[in-house]
Amino acid sequence: MSRTTPRTSGGILTLIAAVVAAVAAFVGHHATDGVSTAQGVVPDGVSVFDDEFPAVANLDPDLLEAVRRAATDAAADGIRFQVNSGWRATAYQDQLLRDAVEDYGSEAEAARWVATADTSSHVSGEAIDVGDLDATLWLSEHGSGYGLCQIYANEPWHYELRPEAAEQGCPLMYADPTEDPRMQRGHD
Ligand SMILES: [Zn+2]
Repeated sequence: MSRTTPRTSGGILTLIAAVVAAVAAFVGHHATDGVSTAQGVVPDGVSVFDDEFPAVANLDPDLLEAVRRAATDAAADGIRFQVNSGWRATAYQDQLLRDAVEDYGSEAEAARWVATADTSSHVSGEAIDVGDLDATLWLSEHGSGYGLCQIYANEPWHYELRPEAAEQGCPLMYADPTEDPRMQRGHD
């Protein structure tokens, strides 16, 4: 008993320390670091018509117009386009990248999912992440008619404008963003 008690309490202390560390990591991960809707953070339930959110209002006008035309037609099928992400300020993109490196464990793996601020098509306002699933399924079937194309095979929600797609169809997808020449950074 006297031999096992210290071990047990040591085990409990270790467990408590682990829980505290996990909670701290969780809280840290979800802290907004001062970024808000002004930097492009999107609350739940925002539609493509909600101009009061910079994530929507700061999108490239041609992309936004195409998405709204598509959303209007999809609404006739009972489908609502939700904006999960749109335009992002550099500070917000930087935070997403830091979170991704933490989540995926390396910059190389994070790069498969999150671009740097200087290469992100979200920072330039040329990409929109659409939800929910029924909206992305609708777009995968009808999007090209509006010039709206899925760019990355691993991101079925990420759409960009390819005006020529209305006539030629969408270009072949990249497997993930690391294959996209726009994501290649210089060596300087
Ligand atoms: Zn995206």
